Amino acid sequence: MHFSLRLLMTLLGLAVMGWMAYVTWYRQEQDRRTTFFVLAVLVVPMGFLEYRAQANERELGHAASLVAKRDVGVRCQGLLGNLVDIGSELGTVQFDAEGEPANVTHIKRDACKWARDYASGNHRVTLNHAVGVHVIAHEAIHLRGWTNEALTECYGMQHDAVVARALGASQTQAQRLADFYWRMVYPDMPDEYRMSEADCSNGGKYDLHKNSDIWP
Ligand SMILES: [Zn+2]
Repeated sequence: MHFSLRLLMTLLGLAVMGWMAYVTWYRQEQDRRTTFFVLAVLVVPMGFLEYRAQANERELGHAASLVAKRDVGVRCQGLLGNLVDIGSELGTVQFDAEGEPANVTHIKRDACKWARDYASGNHRVTLNHAVGVHVIAHEAIHLRGWTNEALTECYGMQHDAVVARALGASQTQAQRLADFYWRMVYPDMPDEYRMSEADCSNGGKYDLHKNSDIWP
């Protein structure tokens, strides 16, 4: 569990409700029943949303950890962050002055939504699913310590199926999604994210499984 504004609001709401219950039913000083129930109607759904959001992040974090080969976390952008957001990248990993990656990646609201939808059991091959799953894989390679975008993209792509599997897809479904990214999304990525065919392709320089026909 990690800190968030909504978590703070939930805890604060629960504390105020506790105090109201105490003065109303235990001390019988002031009748705060109405306010108590109005507050409950706000706090209970908020707590549920927060619980669900953190459970989702844990699932995505588990998938990212398999790729990063260490314990890392995924933080999904909240509604407020989304409203003030002007960046175009779907995910980020901070590196410190020594070049060490952080332990969490921050994923944009949309990308999280797409990955979450895939994780919810909808394993259809769609553009949104392919991008959502791939963003997790790509950022997880950054979390492993790689900073070069083209290399990260090439390695990330080869882990799309790992992430898809971790999110509940079968081996066939996972490979189909990775294949879709390779054929439909990768060719249109900006130059900074791409390598020559000789480098990033089946049997190419950065093929992680050179003696297998599976690609990516
Ligand atoms: Zn990147």
